Amino acid sequence: MSDEGIEHAKKLGEAKHAYVGIKPCGCCVAAVVDTGDKFTGKAVSEFIRSGLKIERQPMEWVRQHLYKCTHKEATGNEPDLFEGRSEP
Ligand SMILES: [Zn+2]
Repeated sequence: MSDEGIEHAKKLGEAKHAYVGIKPCGCCVAAVVDTGDKFTGKAVSEFIRSGLKIERQPMEWVRQHLYKCTHKEATGNEPDLFEGRSEP
């Protein structure tokens, strides 16, 4: 492991926040621990490329919300962005 990798592992243990990727339906489906180095930047840029919205959240929040998407993947021509949101 490189010095850089060791430094990264140390930061992983100390981190209190993570960047999360939020789908258009509002669910958190991706997360990377915020270590403030290039590993974090690379992961976040990949989330953005996947069309996710990025938020910075406490680790505790991430533990409670990650991978809780219960929505179906968009199947046809209609992106779920436009699915009827009938709020009263
Ligand atoms: Zn969802």
